[in-house]
Amino acid sequence: MVKTQFGIIGLGIMGQNLALNLDENGYTVSVYNRTSKRTNAFMQKVPNNPGIVATYTLDSFVNTLVKPRKILLMVKAGPPVDRVIAQLKPLLTKEDILIDGGNSFYRDTERRSIALETEGFHYLGMGISGGEEGARYGPSIMPGGTREAYTLIEPMLQDIAAKSQDNSPCVAYIGPRGAGHYVKMIHNAIEYADMQLICESYAILQTTIHPTAQELSQIFDNWNQGELNSYLIEITAKIFTRIDTDTGNPLIEMILDKAGQKGTGKWACQDALDLGYPIPSITAAVEARNLSSLKEERVIAAKILPKSESIFNEEPQIIIDAVQAALYASKVCAYAQGLALLTKASKEYEYDLNLAEIARIWRAGCIIRAQLLEDITQAYLQNPDVPNLLIINPFKELLQSRYEKWRYVVKTAFDLDIAIPAMSASLAYYNAYRTNRLPTHLIQAQRDYFGAHTFERVDKPGSNHIDWISDP
Ligand code: NDP
Repeated sequence: MVKTQFGIIGLGIMGQNLALNLDENGYTVSVYNRTSKRTNAFMQKVPNNPGIVATYTLDSFVNTLVKPRKILLMVKAGPPVDRVIAQLKPLLTKEDILIDGGNSFYRDTERRSIALETEGFHYLGMGISGGEEGARYGPSIMPGGTREAYTLIEPMLQDIAAKSQDNSPCVAYIGPRGAGHYVKMIHNAIEYADMQLICESYAILQTTIHPTAQELSQIFDNWNQGELNSYLIEITAKIFTRIDTDTGNPLIEMILDKAGQKGTGKWACQDALDLGYPIPSITAAVEARNLSSLKEERVIAAKILPKSESIFNEEPQIIIDAVQAALYASKVCAYAQGLALLTKASKEYEYDLNLAEIARIWRAGCIIRAQLLEDITQAYLQNPDVPNLLIINPFKELLQSRYEKWRYVVKTAFDLDIAIPAMSASLAYYNAYRTNRLPTHLIQAQRDYFGAHTFERVDKPGSNHIDWISDP
């Protein structure tokens, strides 16, 4: 029997499309899915293709693969990954490479990689971004684990990855253990913020100038021609053009305003809190989804707490241009926060991350791919140790020159009672980050007053406490 070069377990959206991508790139693939019905349905889509081999037991799956076996798990994250690994392990031989391509929590990946590497297997925790289309035609790939294991599959990953404008593949070795899944988690967290900022921009335009869906599509399409050029802006312009076949209304108007989530944004916020590191634009975006889910309460509150009836009276183009600038500036803040968190985590977890490489592999294939990432890549290449993108060019000057419009948009939104949690958090972050003396010395005084938590002084080292009631 001729053996195949690669195995995929899990034929959901991602597994199927990655199998097709590998096949198209000339690799032979064995596939296995827990439920055979799904395997059969997939095989019907690829009739008479000798490059894709269906298997119906894990035993036969493993036996069809050349050694060392290269097996990609594309199953639901969480306990299913542990279950599949436990079933698979007795069938493997040392040096085989197991790759978890799902959205696993990085700490699970740390645990699994330590356990499997101790037993002599190679294990890679590999973030994959780009959804269905990315998996099929080229995703952005973030592999973590040993460099040795990565090197064994690097040519294959380079072949199936997205290619950026300079034709470089959007894959790079990220770091040890859970580093790949950590970076994917932060990618997704930035995605949450980017999407929320786009929603808030849409809300401001709706309330101020009441555009039709077609007009909104045109505005976003125009924005996509400039500095905001990105996948998310591009699909937003397309979304506004879609008509609902049932009602004839723009489909966007018929979609319930409860945003779903699968957990990567929440994990990023939890981790940032654990590290004591601020990512307020991202946290605001996750919270905004949580708040959106309180639909029934919001409907009641909207009746009890009516909003102001202020009206926007200026030229539409003024607010359109200002929102474009505010969206760009806020978006830079969100990316800066996510990447600064990576810098912090890299030190804390000893990942030795290369931020220029990470920005480089996000330039194509993934959901946050954007023109902005080209500038971020260059900025980190020139300033690899910078703690935050906001303080270096081009971002320093780009944000300064957009500041007036950004502040005007936030003020306008507040005047009109439009909730803009991520955009206002971004502006507040920008202002707090460039404040040399925050009012938090008062917090220190309060903490010392009620809890004797001590405070440091600005004029001499050491920790101080006074009895705020009886000391003179
Ligand atoms: P799903 O997340 O819906 O996972 C479905 C697959 O997992 C099916 O093959 C299913 O098998 C299998 N599965 C579920 N539970 C078990 C179990 N206990 N034992 C064995 N197999 C199990 O599919 P997707 O393709 O969307 O995602 C796969 C992974 O990729 C997930 O971790 C996801 O978060 C991640 N991901 C998804 C993206 C997307 O856009 N969809 C983008 C990037 C990453 P069965 O058919 O038998 O139920």
